[in-house]
Amino acid sequence: MKSVIEVENLEKDYGKLRAVNGISFEVKKGEVFGLLGENGAGKTTTLEIIEGLRKPTSGKVMVLGEDTTHGCLDRVKEKIGVQLQSTAYFDFLTIKEILQLFGSFYHKNISPLDLLEMVDLKDKANSLVKNLSGGQKQRFSIVASIVNDPEIVFLDEPTTGLDPLARRKLWDLIIEIKNRKKTVILTTHYMEEAEILCDRIAIMEKGKIIAMGETHKLIEGSHTPYRLNFISNILSGLEKDSLSKLGELEQVVGKSNHFELRLKSQRDLNSAIGVVQKISPESLTVGRASLEDLFLELTGKTIGEENA
Ligand code: ATP
Repeated sequence: MKSVIEVENLEKDYGKLRAVNGISFEVKKGEVFGLLGENGAGKTTTLEIIEGLRKPTSGKVMVLGEDTTHGCLDRVKEKIGVQLQSTAYFDFLTIKEILQLFGSFYHKNISPLDLLEMVDLKDKANSLVKNLSGGQKQRFSIVASIVNDPEIVFLDEPTTGLDPLARRKLWDLIIEIKNRKKTVILTTHYMEEAEILCDRIAIMEKGKIIAMGETHKLIEGSHTPYRLNFISNILSGLEKDSLSKLGELEQVVGKSNHFELRLKSQRDLNSAIGVVQKISPESLTVGRASLEDLFLELTGKTIGEENA
């Protein structure tokens, strides 16, 4: 698959702080690529450099074959859509008028009513942004970023602060954008969201990429990809010892009889099931590690090492 974004040895310093520290990655045409990381990891800075909104200290960024760090922005601007973490819109224009105005800046544009229909806001076409709910504003900000029918859409924390239903509606919208053969690059703090939406992810920490790849393969590559959860009031010291030899046994926080065992292999999992079944647990579930588990494993380990 063709790369539509190529980032090479990117660095960004803010005074003495190196916010982006020599990262390289590619985003392929048609994929949803997620940039993950703790607060301050450098995600927004990276996105804004790719979008041409910030200058890097060093490194190279190519977007659709154009170098966005060296003044080729005009040609690229027509083909990208950008949703920022917070955007101020005009107070005196209706949402339909804002989309009309934004569309007029481009050669190619989608009709405001078609855009509003995509996010169930057609009946609000004549409302001002300030009269929309938080979720409606977020949905509006996403369609406002695709007025020019862009090839690449940048979404910076598109679902932050939304209720679960509104978040799921936005996932549907992002999937629809992908189904329209667009490339999406997004940042998020919600691991479940990244796991569902992103074909590939890069996890950033302190300006560096500490893991990158296809989302499901990265999770499979977790140190302990298998999970056994069970409830028992009669787990003896002997059984705890045998389970601890097979994997990492933890009592679930706040529940004295709920346990989670994290395991490295299917063989260890089978042996652990054998041990737990002997005590006739009240419930027993077998599962896989999630992206959140992997994220905590990777970022937690580094913090621990630093503190050691
Ligand atoms: P978050 O998840 O909180 O949005 P992030 O991963 O997007 O964080 P950035 O916003 O890229 O992180 O910030 C990276 C680092 O650079 C942070 O330490 C931040 O304080 C710093 N930083 C960002 N913008 C500036 C700026 N304009 N001037 C100085 N420092 C900045």
